[in-house]
Amino acid sequence: MTNSPNLSHGRGYLAIPGPSVMPEAVLQAMHRAAPNIYGGELVEAMPGIIADLKRVARTKHYATIYIGNGHAAWEAALSNVVAPGDRVLVPATGRFGHGWGDVATGLGAEAQVIDFGKSSPIDLDRVAEALAQDKDHEIKAVLAVHVDTSGSVLSDIKGLRAVMDAAGHPALLMVDCIASLGCDQFEMDAWGVDVMVTGCQKGLMVPPGCSFVFFNDRAQAVRDAMPRVSRYWDWNQRSTATEFWQYFNGTGPTHHLFGLQVALGMIHDEGLENVWARHGVLARAVWAACDAWSTEGDLRLNITNPAHRSTAVTALRLGGSDGTRLRNWVESELGLTLGIGLGMAEPNDPARDAFFRLGHMGHVNGQMIMGLLGGMQAGMSSLGITHGRGALDAAAEVIAGH
Ligand SMILES: *Cc1c(COP(=O)(O)O)cnc(C)c1O
Repeated sequence: MTNSPNLSHGRGYLAIPGPSVMPEAVLQAMHRAAPNIYGGELVEAMPGIIADLKRVARTKHYATIYIGNGHAAWEAALSNVVAPGDRVLVPATGRFGHGWGDVATGLGAEAQVIDFGKSSPIDLDRVAEALAQDKDHEIKAVLAVHVDTSGSVLSDIKGLRAVMDAAGHPALLMVDCIASLGCDQFEMDAWGVDVMVTGCQKGLMVPPGCSFVFFNDRAQAVRDAMPRVSRYWDWNQRSTATEFWQYFNGTGPTHHLFGLQVALGMIHDEGLENVWARHGVLARAVWAACDAWSTEGDLRLNITNPAHRSTAVTALRLGGSDGTRLRNWVESELGLTLGIGLGMAEPNDPARDAFFRLGHMGHVNGQMIMGLLGGMQAGMSSLGITHGRGALDAAAEVIAGH
């Protein structure tokens, strides 16, 4: 009798683009009794946590924390600077760009959307045109997504600022870095970003539940001119807090903060530039494998130009329903979980089963990526999915030569 053992027993790898893998040290920091919130260790840690957040964002200005997910950060940021009837420009590069624009619409703003499709970055020329047409400067803010996680496209935020400056347009530049912060290079102050939002469950390696809004003095001036800002979202008290509760407009997310403190410490101990470089090498290994696989069969990277790819997430497609078949196989047989395709096909469209994504954000190292790629290759072989040869060699070359 031959056994056909299941190979999923062992440590899994959740290779979805958020929530990301959590470091043991983060988990251990959170595994503790409830702390006092009126004094002691956690209260004293707050100024350091805020300073460490600003270092990750590369800003000297303001950082605020919200209990909520990325959608909450979208609403928080907009609530401070966009009033009903205001116009915002949304250069959308996928599901998340449209999502942020939709939150603006929900707050009564008029969202002018430029749709760049599912596989292309923001086209700066088209943004320049839209700004030039806005002679009365009615556009109050430009809502950009640095990495749109649905298609894994990376947009040029520094270039976007240059286009706004060249147009002499006073709109605020607001950027969603929920997928990219702590993965892809981002420089809030140097790139002239006025407002940036991020979450804690992707590059920051903490369970979902906290998000962050960073802003500068230009954004504060717009906030000060608002007719009203709802109390809970108002960033004024949060950004100038002296009492623990003021940071959160109520009880703080105690255990998230313990985890966040350790996660930020890990990022700064490694060095933010080194964190970006690590993501870069690991992403290039993934792309090298995908290039080799795609020489035969249907596997394709969603973003063809490497300069427009995020190093945090990779969106892919196979033929037919092979994306879903592969995901199911590697999860049940190997303990490796890949991300579903998002925003590439309608939920009822069978074509959605072609798409999938790889999350390689945050607490990810070389052996995890080689395991991810080896697992994918085993899955394609077992399922009879045609693929080119040499993918693992190509990935190993990238890692060997880094
Ligand atoms: C994950 C993500 C969001 C949404 O975050 P939630 O925590 O799920 O609300 C928004 N934008 C981008 C770019 C993301 O990757």
